[in-house]
Amino acid sequence: MQINHRAKKSLGQNFLQDDNIARKIVDSLGITADDSVIEIGPGQGALTRFIREAGPASLKLIEMDRDLAPALAQEYPEAEVVQLDALKFDWSKLDPSVSWKIVGNLPYNVASKIMWDVASGCNATCVFMVQHEVGQRITAEPGSRKYGAISVWIQSFCRVVYLFKVPPTVFRPRPKVDSAVIKFFPRAADEKPVDIEGLAGFVKYCFQYRRKQLGKILKSFISDCMLEWAEKEGVALSDRPEALSPLQFQGLHKCIKNDFPS
Ligand code: SAM
Repeated sequence: MQINHRAKKSLGQNFLQDDNIARKIVDSLGITADDSVIEIGPGQGALTRFIREAGPASLKLIEMDRDLAPALAQEYPEAEVVQLDALKFDWSKLDPSVSWKIVGNLPYNVASKIMWDVASGCNATCVFMVQHEVGQRITAEPGSRKYGAISVWIQSFCRVVYLFKVPPTVFRPRPKVDSAVIKFFPRAADEKPVDIEGLAGFVKYCFQYRRKQLGKILKSFISDCMLEWAEKEGVALSDRPEALSPLQFQGLHKCIKNDFPS
């Protein structure tokens, strides 16, 4: 895309310069002619042209930058270009009968929030490039030091896979840290949490006190239901939040949700 553009730090603009990596990211999404693709933060189109080559049924580009959005609309007339903050996009409005694939080299400052919303808001297979540390946190397993609220949240809705690492040298301007490409496969509807808002508050609350024991964090909510649940799951009240799997967070939340402030 020919546009004389100065990267904006405030929009987390680190543009990918390496076609091989761009192709590898798009290939890992496995786009077919039946898929509708959404790209978040297409920027100067590093990934977009490979998405176009893959021939999806439709393509939507969500770009916040007021200079880049019109240039994208010119370069990709077949796409719907939306000049918008992706944090304001209502993912729950996506038609559930469509096969959605979502991709993006995400702006580092809002990447976690965007992925939090996408994973819980719609049913899409996603490939995202994020800061390496964020990629590790999202794909971390229970018990790991990197496992936290965002790992529990995204893994409650999707199976997550760490695909590969990308060095800072392939971006302009160069970021200070490595990046990681990760993939989300949406879980079946009956595996996903039901009380989404309640669970979000509960998970965040527990990880606010991640060094404390569950029995102390939840001392005002201890009930027979919770004690029976803990025994059945083999969870001790002396365990810390990071010991619980995403499914166990759902089970524990079910026990206390009537008492827990929403
Ligand atoms: N996809 C391009 C690439 O790989 O070279 C650009 C990636 S750059 C890391 C992030 C892109 O997201 C930029 O184009 C930036 O303008 C855009 N962006 C930043 N914040 C955004 C937001 N809240 N909503 C939508 N796009 C955003």
